[in-house]
Amino acid sequence: MTGVTLQNVTKRFKTETAVDDVSLAIVDGEFVVILGASGSGKSTILRIIAGLEVQTSGHVYIGDMLVDDYEPRDRNLAMVFQSYALYPHLNAYDNIAFGLRVRRVPRADHPRKLRHLTKREVDAKVRSAAQMLGIGEMLRKRPAELSGGQRQRVALARAMVRDPEAFLLDEPLSNLDAKIRSSARIELKRLHARLRQTFIFVTHDQSEAMTLGDRLAILNHGRLLQCDTPERVLSHPANQYVASFVGSPEMVFLEGNVQPAGAGYTFVKDPVRIPIRGAARPGPVTLGVRPWDVRVEKEGSPTALPSRVTGVERLGSSDHLFLELAGPAPASGAAAPAPPALSVRAVTRAYDFNVGDRAFVTFDPDRALFFDAEGARLESMSLATRLP
Ligand code: ADP
Ligand code: MG
Repeated sequence: MTGVTLQNVTKRFKTETAVDDVSLAIVDGEFVVILGASGSGKSTILRIIAGLEVQTSGHVYIGDMLVDDYEPRDRNLAMVFQSYALYPHLNAYDNIAFGLRVRRVPRADHPRKLRHLTKREVDAKVRSAAQMLGIGEMLRKRPAELSGGQRQRVALARAMVRDPEAFLLDEPLSNLDAKIRSSARIELKRLHARLRQTFIFVTHDQSEAMTLGDRLAILNHGRLLQCDTPERVLSHPANQYVASFVGSPEMVFLEGNVQPAGAGYTFVKDPVRIPIRGAARPGPVTLGVRPWDVRVEKEGSPTALPSRVTGVERLGSSDHLFLELAGPAPASGAAAPAPPALSVRAVTRAYDFNVGDRAFVTFDPDRALFFDAEGARLESMSLATRLP
């Protein structure tokens, strides 16, 4: 068991840069998820680690060993693909045993001479892996007689018996239907906890990444945008792309402007005006709030934004509300101007609100984020709870 390090790895296909100067140190025993949209370079990175693709520049280390010149088979990594690539004419047992039968190990009496594993050794490894994955009863079945979840376990068992330095998994759960997929995630996480080996797992599914990863490495156009724990990626996204890619329901974004107001500054997105604290500069910004950090109440405080509930998604334990904001409450007596529509999404307790209800919205000031026009985080700026 060993860590894997990428050092300034770039891969170009003719004119296209599939992987762009990626540096990433995966610690021994860590479960790292490489997360990105389709075409962002995830599989290419995995294939470079496996030695199936040669990088244009940069280096790959397995443990302390520079492996740039190593053939795939000499890297001793196990790869599991989306398609599992099982042999259809072999039963589960033989699929798992296949690689073991051709493998050679040093002889006890002549360590420099190699021998094949004995039938008994192969059998012990196959059965122990199968048992750990709960497929001990299905070893005589062929892939066509197995469910998607069972085929996936056979592919994992085949990877496990090789005692690899690390597991490379390329979207192995995406062929499973939704119900099996969530239990397969839990099983995979358990397997990792038991094996304590390095897992590098590729997916385009942010919720899969969140549940599985010790850390998430987020890619866009071949560039590594951030590598951090799921909590940090949610609460401290490196930029607006990461902020919108992770978290479900998606972060609420309000594109507005910073304007001077009194001694300080205000975030303005008509009809919304919210005071800012920290180092602000006038100009366009985007305010980002997680829907679960949008507070919705029946009674309004002075800084709350009056709104109307325009949609409710009932999820059982919580509701997702769609709200149309109306801006700060007008001074008493003044006629309320017709507010432009500005919608946000919030997570609330189940059945607290119905469509058509009036509601008062505030954003958790410690959790609201600002981004500049290019999508970079403005870390020094945050919302204030008081008017300046
Ligand atoms: P992902 O796995 O994130 O969907 P890939 O790593 O497969 O993305 O691909 C990244 C980019 O590199 C894509 O735009 C893809 O078209 C391109 N690419 C991948 N493999 C090749 C190849 N063998 N030849 C040419 N272009 C490729
Ligand atoms: Mg891929």
